[in-house]
Amino acid sequence: MWNGKNKAVTLSYDDGVESDRRLVEILGRYGLKCTFNLNSGIMGPESCWEDNGVTIRRMSPEGLPELYRGHEIAVHCVTHANLLKLDDDSVRHEIMDDKAALEELFGCQIQGMAYPYGAYDQRIVRIAGECGIRFSRTCNDTHGFRLPEEPLAFGATCRHQDPALWELLERFLSYEGSEPAVFCLWGHSYEFDVNGNWDLIERFCSRVAGREEIFFGTNSQVFLEK
Ligand SMILES: [Zn+2]
Repeated sequence: MWNGKNKAVTLSYDDGVESDRRLVEILGRYGLKCTFNLNSGIMGPESCWEDNGVTIRRMSPEGLPELYRGHEIAVHCVTHANLLKLDDDSVRHEIMDDKAALEELFGCQIQGMAYPYGAYDQRIVRIAGECGIRFSRTCNDTHGFRLPEEPLAFGATCRHQDPALWELLERFLSYEGSEPAVFCLWGHSYEFDVNGNWDLIERFCSRVAGREEIFFGTNSQVFLEK
């Protein structure tokens, strides 16, 4: 499996907002790897919104390759559109053009995606595959650790806000089976600002970090290089 290990931890965080800076700093301190799902068409602080009195700002493209170095970039569609509401050509545009713009900005090939709003069906999955996407995250959390059977519509283990997080994590840490096991955590870094709970991700990282039996990788390292 992964460097001879059969347990892996990976993260998936969406939308490319300012609070990713703090998340990247924390992940770097503990050696964890994340896949950041970005919208190339709405980058910049003018694309902002309020949540619970907290202003959430998207980041401009400048400096993003340096910020996210060591992590993975993936498609989250040009404008964060609900793909179920678009015709085939528009879905293709949202995926292909985001992929092309991010490949240009980050100077690398992009293979992953997360569906905006978790909205997808068989038609969207087919078009994503035709656009060269190899894995894409839904919002259907599995509360499990198995490798996805359908990488183009895979569910993470859970969101960081999930009340079951700590129980799931302890179950994962104590797992000693021979089948490969993945803990995939997802969310939005702005939720830590809105909920005032940055200690949650610190606690998650410190609980898993430094364990020799666990591989820490991006989504593509975990799902494609197994
Ligand atoms: Zn999103």
